Order: sequence, then structure tokens, then C-alpha cells
Amino acid sequence: MKLIFIYALIIAFFTACSNDTNSNSGNNQPSIVSNALATGASANHILSNNQFKSMVIELTYIDGYAPSTTTINNLQSFLENRVNKPNGITIEQHQIVPPGNSNYTIDDIVAIENTHRINFNTNDKIAIWILFLDGEAASNTESSLTLGTAYLNTSFVVYENTIHDLSNSAFEPNRSDLETTVVLHEFGHLLGLTNLGTQMQNNHEDIDHPKHCNEENCLMYYAAETGSGVMNMVSGGTIPQLDTQCIADLQANGGK
Ligand SMILES: [Zn+2]
Ligand SMILES: [Zn+2]
Repeated sequence: MKLIFIYALIIAFFTACSNDTNSNSGNNQPSIVSNALATGASANHILSNNQFKSMVIELTYIDGYAPSTTTINNLQSFLENRVNKPNGITIEQHQIVPPGNSNYTIDDIVAIENTHRINFNTNDKIAIWILFLDGEAASNTESSLTLGTAYLNTSFVVYENTIHDLSNSAFEPNRSDLETTVVLHEFGHLLGLTNLGTQMQNNHEDIDHPKHCNEENCLMYYAAETGSGVMNMVSGGTIPQLDTQCIADLQANGGK
């Protein structure tokens, strides 16, 4: 049943195993939080205005694989509704030359980030990097496709080529709806969802799919090989929203 496989939306997450200690030096200088910590480690810094009063989001893409304006607008309004950044949220776009891969490992992706990323955290501005790739995840199999991966505290990748393959044809979802779902879901991991750096107010982690919400209508639900489940999530122009439990978690960690 190829269709079933094709429609499987598997949004994987990757939790870096690196040492995520946020060192606080003993002097009076504000410490710059690293952009190379584990996924979820900067959830409070992204959500609250305790240290970072503004946020810059760097969208990096390869020609032909840029996110749609609709997706960018959806991301902006999602964040305006959830994070406290009194000095604003800015979204920049940068095009890079194709790296030349047909598929990408996380190591490949980190290397691309190290070469091309422009924005890093400053004293009061936190920087996020989102990469839209022209190839698929190297981890894909016939029965499981990864559409996006949050791999560091301020970094995630969207496999835009795979999104193109799964959208905008007969019986397939609208591309912006699918793209928005992946972008917001991965951003949700940077916000510490679910139980990934933002403490749960009630236990709603899916024990079968750790770091995801157990509410099947929630943006942070892990939709596995069941194609019908994914089709339901983005059918009829409906983009999944955060459920009340995930929102409560964000609000308790400095968000809105
Ligand atoms: Zn996920
Ligand atoms: Zn949820």
C-alpha cells in the first residue's frame, strides 16, 4: 500500500547528546546562551522575555525549496501568540547554493549550518535557524518518511523536497498546510514540547512516542504510519493547533 506509506507523516525529533550545561560565569557580564545545546534546552529563553527581548529567525533555503509566504505568515502569527518578545520577531530569508546531496544525515545538516548560518544569540536577541532542504532525510525508509527534525536548541531542518512529493497533487494535502504543520511542529520542540525542556503541567506525553503529546488532534501529536491519521490532521485546510495541555505547559514556562 504505497499510498499509505506515502502519506505517513513522521516528524522525528533528535535530541542531541551533547553536554547541554549552560554555564553561568561568575562575572557580571550577561552570559550569551550557546546556539549549540540540546533540543529544548533553550525553551525558556525562547518563550520568555527574561533575557531575550527579541528574536530573529533565519530561514535558509535552496532555490526552488523556499517555504511559502503563507507558511512564513503562519509561523509569525503562531509565535506572536505564544512567545514574549516585546522588541519583536523578525524573519529573514537567505538562499544558499545546493549542497549537492540527494539525502542528508544530521551531520551533513550541522555542517551546512556551520557554513551558512549568519545569526547567533546576542545579549538580548535570540536567533533561530531553519533550513529548507532539496533532498530527503538519510534515515528515510520505504515505510517511514521524516519531514522535519529539530536537532539543536535553536535549529531545525525541514525536508522540503519530501513535502513537495507529498503535496499539491490529487488526493494530497495543500502544500502550505503540510509545510506549516511541519514548521510549527518542529518549532514546538524548540519550545520544549512535549516534556522536552518545558515541564508538563499534566502528564500528556505519549509513552509510545516520547517527547510528543498524546492528544491526537494536537500539533505535537506523533502521527506514525497510519496515512489516514495524517490526512485527517491536515485535511480541509485545517492546520493542527496546540491543545490546551501543550499551551498550559508553554504558559508555565514563560510563554503566552
Ligand atoms: Zn516531533
Ligand atoms: Zn498537545
